[in-house]
Amino acid sequence: MSDAADYVQGERLSDDDIARALRDGVLLGQECADCGHGTGTAAAACSHCGSRDTTAVVLPEDGEIYTETRINVPPPAFEGPYTVAIVELSDGTRLTAHIESDVSVGDAVSFQGTIAEDIRPAPVFG
Ligand SMILES: [Zn+2]
Repeated sequence: MSDAADYVQGERLSDDDIARALRDGVLLGQECADCGHGTGTAAAACSHCGSRDTTAVVLPEDGEIYTETRINVPPPAFEGPYTVAIVELSDGTRLTAHIESDVSVGDAVSFQGTIAEDIRPAPVFG
C-alpha cells in the first residue's frame, strides 16, 4: 500500500496531490486529528469540527452508494450520459465518483480506477 505522505508536496494535502495519487491508482483523502472525520477532498479545515489539524491518508477502496444521479447532458470533456455518485467508503469517508455500472443507493462498490481527462482525474467506482 502506498504512503499518503509520498504524494503530499506542500505543507498540507492539495487537489494536485489528490490528482497525482489518482493517476497512480491511489485514493487519497484527509483525516481530522481531533475528531477523526474523513474527507475525500483537500480542505483547509475539518468540515465536521473546524479543526485545521488534518492528515493526508490513503482511503479504503470499498464502500457503498450513498446517493447517485444520472448526468444526461455532460460537460464538454465527458461523454454522456453517465452516473455520478457519492460513495461512502468503509471508514465512513464520503467522496464523489464516476460510476461504471447500474447502481442504487446502498449497493456495494469498489474503486475501479481513474477517468483521465484534460481536466482533473476522477475516481471510478463500480
Ligand atoms: Zn474534525
